[in-house]
Amino acid sequence: MQQRVINEKAIRDVLSSTRSASSQTIQAILAKAREKKGLSVKEVGFLVNLKDPALLRKLFETAGWVKDQIYGERLVFFAPLYISDFCVNDCAYCSFHASNTGLARRGLTMREIEEQTRHIINMGHKRILVEFGEDPAKSNIDYVVSAIRRIYAASTPKGTIRRVNVNIAATTLKDYKKLKQAKIGTYQLFQETYHRWTYERLHRGPKADYDRQISAYGRAFKAGIDDLGLGVLFGLYDWRFEVLALVSHAQYLEKKYNVGPHTISVPRFQPAPSVTFKPEYKVSDADFLKLIAILRIAVPYTGMIISTRESAPIRKKAFTIGISQASAASCTTIGGYGKKRKEPQFIIQDERPLEEVISDIIEKGFLPSFCTACYRLGRTGEVFMGISKPGDIHTFCRPNAILTFAEYLQDFTKNGLYEKGYTLIRHYLEKIENRTLRARTKEKLEEIKKGKRDLYF
Ligand code: SAM
Ligand code: SF4
Repeated sequence: MQQRVINEKAIRDVLSSTRSASSQTIQAILAKAREKKGLSVKEVGFLVNLKDPALLRKLFETAGWVKDQIYGERLVFFAPLYISDFCVNDCAYCSFHASNTGLARRGLTMREIEEQTRHIINMGHKRILVEFGEDPAKSNIDYVVSAIRRIYAASTPKGTIRRVNVNIAATTLKDYKKLKQAKIGTYQLFQETYHRWTYERLHRGPKADYDRQISAYGRAFKAGIDDLGLGVLFGLYDWRFEVLALVSHAQYLEKKYNVGPHTISVPRFQPAPSVTFKPEYKVSDADFLKLIAILRIAVPYTGMIISTRESAPIRKKAFTIGISQASAASCTTIGGYGKKRKEPQFIIQDERPLEEVISDIIEKGFLPSFCTACYRLGRTGEVFMGISKPGDIHTFCRPNAILTFAEYLQDFTKNGLYEKGYTLIRHYLEKIENRTLRARTKEKLEEIKKGKRDLYF
């Protein structure tokens, strides 16, 4: 019999038994968070119920500190690539839903995929997250695999894409094996909502099977995919329940596979063409930031991803309280990069070009990164956990961020940003604690200035 991943009653009980807490209890939880070993579901319960403004400030401070300790100041960027909007599911929130007959659907040809990839490379990105609707006839696993191979094969004088992460619907062990062979980075699958009743009400089609969705991570893992990304679409159900469920899910994966989620994404519902769904559980900006901070300290080793669904000011705040990866200059239209005509999956709030996003974050002392080293050196799954859990991953993150940001500065910027970028690089170079590593990073930087590319530790 299949093991239960989420116990809804237990989560509801925790939510009601943690409604009030003394200041000492909260302070003790925040002190424990600084040990960077995560929190129990009950401790997370006290935090989601927290309202005191002074303690909330402490929560944000703690989350920022934990992110800094584990991942350092680096912020990794990627771009999504929407390949096909054919979809047999009717998800209430998504404009690709099957009953949207007004949508002129399409799947990109391999030539178009290459052309879109080249566009993304020429923006400065090195990582792509590929997105597909679910349609076994029009975008089956062989099409998905061919698309991934074509992305890896594409190149321009500015380089190539070095890591392809994938966001496709739950599938079979056989399909996951094919994905693994295609050398994917992280496999992301959002549970959308952990609340079974809400899940079954908002979905139609194969995706409406809650058990198929929640058991998919196990099949992917069995197929050898050990970098898994979790996520909830916030706004479908009570965010407090979802946060406790996400943490329970992370702990379940850790216990069962010895590997927790490589990433957690926090998409929030956005209006979308043809979507009439009105979220009953709209998440306010204040609660959204609070849940990011809680997840950061509850699952400290995980990468946390924010997308351009969120506005620039919200993203900026989120970067200081736990986010470690972000999409930038995204387009959610099939084949939309470089085109005027847009039929997006949902409305994007942060439409700034990559250069503007970068210029903005370096003012705040964040170090932009296009690093793909861990995955290419086999630092995935259990190996990655072994480095990230004790907080050692920043040892690699800082030099690799410096090197990939230097490549970006050399290849994509001029004047102002170039100078500002190198000032930041010089600042963080001196912060590399290990003398040998610092010296080797300096050597590699010189090589990059002379034209060498793709150097990493
Ligand atoms: N079709 C695949 C699936 O459903 O798992 C993956 C791709 S889908 C394009 C990626 C994600 O977009 C979904 O998992 C969902 O969470 C999110 N999404 C869909 N509609 C959205 C909306 N209106 N606002 C924000 N995010 C949305
Ligand atoms: Fe299809 Fe995914 Fe959109 Fe659902 S969320 S309609 S499965 S593309």
